[in-house]
Amino acid sequence: MARIVQKYGGTSVGSIEKIKMVAERVIEACREGNQMVVVLSAMAGQTDGLIAMAKEINPDPDLRELDVLMSTGEQVSVALFAIALKSLGYEARSLLGFQAAIHTDDLYGKARIRDIEIDRITRNLDAGRIVIVAGFQGLNARGDITTLGRGGSDTTAVALAAALDADVCEILTDVDGVYTTDPNVYRKAQKMDFISYDEMLEMASMGAKVLEIRSVEFAKKFNVPIHVRSTFSKERGTMVIAEIKDMEKVAVSGVAYNKNEARITIRKVPDQPGVASRLFDPVFKAGIVVDMIVQNTSQDGFTDLTFTVPKGDFYKTMKLVSDVGKDVGAETVLGDEDIAKVSIIGVGMRVHAGVAKKMFSALAEKNINIIMISTSEIKISCIIEEKYTELAVRVLHDTFGLNHAKEEIL
Ligand code: ASP
Ligand code: MG
Repeated sequence: MARIVQKYGGTSVGSIEKIKMVAERVIEACREGNQMVVVLSAMAGQTDGLIAMAKEINPDPDLRELDVLMSTGEQVSVALFAIALKSLGYEARSLLGFQAAIHTDDLYGKARIRDIEIDRITRNLDAGRIVIVAGFQGLNARGDITTLGRGGSDTTAVALAAALDADVCEILTDVDGVYTTDPNVYRKAQKMDFISYDEMLEMASMGAKVLEIRSVEFAKKFNVPIHVRSTFSKERGTMVIAEIKDMEKVAVSGVAYNKNEARITIRKVPDQPGVASRLFDPVFKAGIVVDMIVQNTSQDGFTDLTFTVPKGDFYKTMKLVSDVGKDVGAETVLGDEDIAKVSIIGVGMRVHAGVAKKMFSALAEKNINIIMISTSEIKISCIIEEKYTELAVRVLHDTFGLNHAKEEIL
């Protein structure tokens, strides 16, 4: 007998038909002798709809009340799901975040889970019930409802799996696993059998939307194995797990891209202590997240500084940096929105030599100019012209031998 936490996303419970179907799937797992805890998202589109209503009243709605509102989406789905299970003759109990004793900090709209008291859930499991928990919500110390940030049901599921010491946290969704690259960009993308937490974090931060980033951080911290798989098939999906030695066999496990960044260059900045700090100060104060930063070696006491920000923050950043650029005596500020970041990711990079060289040559062969480069221990990213994104992804996927399924090593 295993203890399994399953999380179903909004599309998996997006209609009454689907709720009935998914209920059957849960019952099957229950009949196999497993203890089942099911975490649900709101039915597809519901959360967006609730937010839109609030914004019709006020474009900047009160955050406490917005959480009260947004959390109702999950209240609907868990109740319907429990009704479906009971109609099929199974003992079930729906629990909202506060009933499941999911305690969070105070930050409405992006609360973090502090702890979960599992007694009520385990009592229900011991009584032979299937427990259905509303995802995405918790309770703060003041006794108010909080939500965990968009897509937060993944985090609810992983946190519950950790607290309940579950054997696995299954994330059931409308894709059948994690792929070596975006299958919409390259049809040769392969489903991975497994991926390490760190690789998954890199893929997710590049916009691979299968798992919410915080859930992966949580899983890594508490060593919860995640199984990403399709709601609509029984096939094995992708295991997201702690790193094992064999994962280093290949240098590169995946190719990711992000078209959502823009580049800003500050030319001829006086090369003196404190200048970078002054330049970035207004940007950080505005809450803008800077990704890559590159400073050239200085010439005659001047240097160039280039960095990237999310496209949505481009104009605001240009304005902030142009103002402060004048103050520090920089020559000009230039910007470019038509860029993209392509990255190769793999824990094997640590032991394989020449990976960067191979990446640069592959791009050069297609005449793709590299505008910026950044590296981490398990990732190499290049900023290129946006129009070459798809070509770059495909050529890197070919170059690093990702077009064929990897042998099963687990
Ligand atoms: N319903 C919430 C959202 O749409 C949480 C989730 O789906 O995980 O963001
Ligand atoms: Mg979702």
